[in-house]
Amino acid sequence: MDQTRQLMRDAVPLLLQWYRVCKRDLPWRRVRTPYSTLVSELMLQQTRVEAVKERFVRFMQRFPTAEALAAADEEAVLKLWEGLGYYARARNLHKAAKRIATEGFPQTEVGVRSLPGVGEYTAGAICSIALGLPVPAVDGNVLRIITRLTADGSNVGDAATRARIAAELRAVYPPQTDAFCEALMELGAIVCVPNGAPACGACPWNGLCRAHAAGREEAYPIRSEKPARRVVEGTVLVLRRGNAYALEKRPPGGLLAGLWQFPFFEGAAPDLGRTIAEKRAKHVFTHVEWHMTGKLVEADGRPLPYIWATAGQIAERYAIPSAFKAFAEWIV
Ligand code: SF4
Repeated sequence: MDQTRQLMRDAVPLLLQWYRVCKRDLPWRRVRTPYSTLVSELMLQQTRVEAVKERFVRFMQRFPTAEALAAADEEAVLKLWEGLGYYARARNLHKAAKRIATEGFPQTEVGVRSLPGVGEYTAGAICSIALGLPVPAVDGNVLRIITRLTADGSNVGDAATRARIAAELRAVYPPQTDAFCEALMELGAIVCVPNGAPACGACPWNGLCRAHAAGREEAYPIRSEKPARRVVEGTVLVLRRGNAYALEKRPPGGLLAGLWQFPFFEGAAPDLGRTIAEKRAKHVFTHVEWHMTGKLVEADGRPLPYIWATAGQIAERYAIPSAFKAFAEWIV
């Protein structure tokens, strides 16, 4: 067996032991079902643990089973998802629940991977955590800790590197697939952290880790430069008429697909009334940045192609993406 494989094998029991003692008490770790794991993993995609905690509890209280979620109205699901962003996840979760409610939860890697919204990483997490299958979940955290442990200088931006590391992990997977998968994530989240110095003193691998032995922890992972984000200059109109505000639905495809928003214009907006207040805000998506000028406008009497909703109706029924949060403060 090559030395790196042996190193990874030696690392497994140390990690599991550390995890038993040091794991955080997180709501989705208290009661696990395949469905609750699907919910938590979709919520956690590109979202911080702290932002998910409370919303996960609320979501599971309202939709404790796939059947309950399948029976819900999409607007209600989106409303409960409000603030988490990346709303396509909520729609996919809803679709997945409908399939699970009729066909049951899939029991194989291929079946899990075929659920809407479930990519390679999420499938690995669900298989390992909820189904006892040795399927690695390789994200940035796992790439970081494994490349540090093994002092692997390959570019983790390459699919081939990720596939190789996944194969290495698959080869050393222990029978406790759930604890192993979560322990890898936990080590990356609280000890072998990405920014600032990793807490090697508290790490179960500090006697094995090649990067630590060389004092080069922060040299890993090696990553190619990301392309710069595209910047979109836009204008957001919070149009008021009496005590109602204008809302429009975004197009069915692309960014924030099908969600409600205040009328948004790339570049300048047409003059639709008297401007009462104005402010700038920025929202950063994965590939795009919106630099927005927001205007609170008393709409003149011309007919406009929007729906009109009061503050109460917006709070109750319409999920407004957090990109518009700075302007939602004008809704009273
Ligand atoms: S010893 Fe340090 S660098 Fe190595 S895995 Fe642990 S925290 Fe990361």
